[in-house]
Amino acid sequence: MASIVSMVTGQLRHMPAGGLPHDLFALGIASNIRIDRNSTAMASSDFGRIVEAAPEAILHPATPSDIAALIRFSASSPAPFPVSPRGQGHSVRGQSLAPGGVIVDMPALGRGHHSRINVSADYVDAGSEQLWIDVLHATLEQGLAPRVWTDYLRITVGDTLSKAGIGGQAFRHGPQIANVQELDVVTGTGDMVTCSREKSSDLFFAALGGLGQFGVITRARITLEQAPKRVRWVRLAYSDVAMFTRDQELLISKRASQAGFDYVEGQVQLNRTLTEGPKSTPFFSEADINRIAGLASQSGSSAIYIMEVAMYYNDSTASYVDKKLEKVLHQLSFVPGFVFTKDVTYVQFLDRVRDEEQVLRSAGLWDVPHPWLNLFIPRSRIIDFDTGVIKHLLGGTNPMGVILRYPMNTVKWDDRMTAMAPLAGEDMFYTVGLLRSAVVASDLALLERENQTVLSFCDKETKWWAAAAEKAHAEAEKAHAPAEKAHAEAEKAHAPAEKVGMMETADALEMVPSNPESQ
Ligand SMILES: Cc1cc2nc3c(=O)[nH]c(=O)nc-3n(C[C@H](O)[C@H](O)[C@H](O)COP(=O)(O)OP(=O)(O)OC[C@H]3O[C@@H](n4cnc5c(N)ncnc54)[C@H](O)[C@@H]3O)c2cc1C
Repeated sequence: MASIVSMVTGQLRHMPAGGLPHDLFALGIASNIRIDRNSTAMASSDFGRIVEAAPEAILHPATPSDIAALIRFSASSPAPFPVSPRGQGHSVRGQSLAPGGVIVDMPALGRGHHSRINVSADYVDAGSEQLWIDVLHATLEQGLAPRVWTDYLRITVGDTLSKAGIGGQAFRHGPQIANVQELDVVTGTGDMVTCSREKSSDLFFAALGGLGQFGVITRARITLEQAPKRVRWVRLAYSDVAMFTRDQELLISKRASQAGFDYVEGQVQLNRTLTEGPKSTPFFSEADINRIAGLASQSGSSAIYIMEVAMYYNDSTASYVDKKLEKVLHQLSFVPGFVFTKDVTYVQFLDRVRDEEQVLRSAGLWDVPHPWLNLFIPRSRIIDFDTGVIKHLLGGTNPMGVILRYPMNTVKWDDRMTAMAPLAGEDMFYTVGLLRSAVVASDLALLERENQTVLSFCDKETKWWAAAAEKAHAEAEKAHAPAEKAHAEAEKAHAPAEKVGMMETADALEMVPSNPESQ
């Protein structure tokens, strides 16, 4: 019997898996289904290497209608079985596994003869199995490119659209899901539906960010823009979290974002990562790392914050990119002299994690467990998070991997989609990615424990915050109660006079220009 084996705080967990109905192998898709151990073993784990679970079978679909036939069969079976689309298997907690069920090998859709990437004047139709790097190359042939990118491009279109797809361009254009015009989806009943904001919109909004729970995306129409040719890629070091936060927020604010950088992200380097981590990276030389480590010890800060920004340009704007960069840098408060700049092609910039991957692969550090934890933090809590988590809980640890931290604009997220910005009522929020690897066996249990502590901290903060908000609300209500009573009585007595007053206010408001700056 197949089993699911998952590692939770270092312990293996076994779960039973049942057999598939025999009638499945009488369907027209049977010749595309594999049940041999070699095939199922390849789809039994993911990038996280924390959870393992063998499927009973793998479907290699030739067309989306093969996926529809499989789902229809499972949905109408007396004992439906799990079906999971698998792009590149880069999920970290077994999301792309199907214990006792069928894995849909999405890349098989692209193995036919016809191209599944078709570029038009302002959009690209991409098969969901396509890698973002291939979408990039195909669109660049027409001088175009999608507007928002994940940091890593060897992942599939369907996958990132079933999450959100975030990166350093999201502050301006929203997540990748906000840049989709149309989808083809195979629903949970095995229907094939084309949906958009106007057509079958419930399915469209549910599937975007829907973790594959509302259907399998088989094609996406993605908005394009003119692609730049080159990129000025800059990193700036800060020892003060307040300055770092102020500058990140300034750079994504409406005013600065139009004139400033086209990409804004950031990282936190814990002191020990600097002194005990790798001596050079594809971006920083050994001398750079030594300087940053020196800054950490001089400033006494337990963390150094690295702003990562990029400015795009092409032949016609090349002559003023330096001036523009200088002007923006002048407004920022990084530690003087701690500016690190590279000039690269657009493709080199977007595909930058590939270089990191190759370094880690050659050191045997890519195929290790990845207990990654990604969080959205309200803007008003990011400093508390820094004090409580970064400096206190993680300050003494020495994890391998990066800690990402960058803000996004709430208004760029569409709350009709399944993946939403935090409901904190704030104009910005942060993504924090604790992207740490377990390089020796004992690290996994340690990192999992730390993740739990971080989650408990967030939980406690959220409860404390909700309780404080409720108390403040109740007190405000209590304080206003007598005034409200008096107001109601006054209203009764002075109704006609108040009516005149209200009209005056409304007239006055109408005279205020809606955008004073435009006058
Ligand atoms: C090095 C690295 C860097 C990353 N950087 C970023 C980043 O900058 N920004 C970001 O947003 N993410 C990032 N990710 C996360 C990435 O989006 C997820 O890890 C994702 O799971 C990888 O895609 P995949 O094709 O391997 O998906 P898989 O692991 O194969 O699929 C995972 C799950 O996604 C869903 N899914 C997959 N395909 C479809 C489909 N066609 N229709 C519906 N649901 C589907 C299913 O639920 C499936 O079970 C990064 C991952 C890695 C490994």
